Amino acid sequence: MVNVMKKLVYILLLTTTFLTLSFNFSKLFDSHRHVHSNKEILESYLTNLVSFHTQTSNNDANQKALRWIVEQLRPLNLKFEYHQYNNSNSLTITTKNTTKPKVWLVAHIDVVSGDEMLFQAKKLDNKLYGRGVYDMKMAIACYMLLMRELGHQTNEHDIGIMITTDEETGGANGVKSLLQEGYSSDVAFLPDGGFDWKFEEMAKGVVQVKLTSYGCAAHGSLPSKGDNAINKLMSALNDINQMFEKEKSKDSSYYSTSNVGMITGGTAVNQVPDYAEACVDIRFTPEMTADQVLAKVVEITKKYDNVLAESTMLAAPRQVDVHQECFQKFSHLALLKYNIEVGSVFSHGASDARFFSEKDIPVLVIAPKGGQHHADKEWVDLDDLERFYEVMKAWVLEVS
Ligand SMILES: [Zn+2]
Repeated sequence: MVNVMKKLVYILLLTTTFLTLSFNFSKLFDSHRHVHSNKEILESYLTNLVSFHTQTSNNDANQKALRWIVEQLRPLNLKFEYHQYNNSNSLTITTKNTTKPKVWLVAHIDVVSGDEMLFQAKKLDNKLYGRGVYDMKMAIACYMLLMRELGHQTNEHDIGIMITTDEETGGANGVKSLLQEGYSSDVAFLPDGGFDWKFEEMAKGVVQVKLTSYGCAAHGSLPSKGDNAINKLMSALNDINQMFEKEKSKDSSYYSTSNVGMITGGTAVNQVPDYAEACVDIRFTPEMTADQVLAKVVEITKKYDNVLAESTMLAAPRQVDVHQECFQKFSHLALLKYNIEVGSVFSHGASDARFFSEKDIPVLVIAPKGGQHHADKEWVDLDDLERFYEVMKAWVLEVS
């Protein structure tokens, strides 16, 4: 009887083991059946990234987002390093212990501000909408997937990922500082322009100036007794605008422009104002340098008594030869894989790419289909993002 009992227990144990095993196997197969496609992973990473309120000024959210990225990739054999310049945070991830990998994959995680709702990505007709989906958290999603796909083979390549949090306010404490500190590479990749598969071949420079005008107050009924600060400022602004108006006569639609974005002055209608100020945003083509543009503005203000100009931001224009081998490799892969013909474009805005160009590091600025960056309907096409990812991956594996 005891023996029969023993046998029964034994059979019971075997059955349970078998059941547990088969249950685990079925779970395993089940999870295999539900294996996520690259497109699904990109969408999931991107949706998570959008949920962080990473406006440039929100240090806390930026830090949290960087930490989240590290958490996702921690199981892989990678070197993670946090950086901080003037309170602005950055993250570098490298497959080898180096500050000079063969290629830097670069992105900024900071975004311009937007309605609360925009921080919840929404999918509609294969497009993902939300703040930063295109500018430029989609790139970070691609870089994360690349590492995940490489898995434990990451060290067979020499790749770096550079994520900064201050591009929307100029990039001085992110990419600029890192490159100044000696971070470098043979080539860089930065999908912050060159929209819809067009290499950014040229990008305008930026000079932002603040003009201050000092006058002398008097009663509004006796303007000749005073020195009107607003009048002088308006004349100087007019001269600046006219100087750039002349640029329009060129045949191309690519010319330098000026925009008076802010103006303040005066405190009472019946008073001659003794102070006024304005801010001007100048975008210029690569025929000039930032210093030359600033010198022209200063020259204009010198015509007026006590009107002063100081620059609040200077960014060099950028011009790149897209016939270089590293660009051609990418174009070739896009054509080969998806029959996409990569074009080129002149950009009106500036990006962190200029810091790489200043160091003579070729930087590919190109992006998939998307649009409305900085606007409420910012979107990225998820199918195209997956194609973009596959081409980028193939290119990175070739250059690293
Ligand atoms: Zn951007």
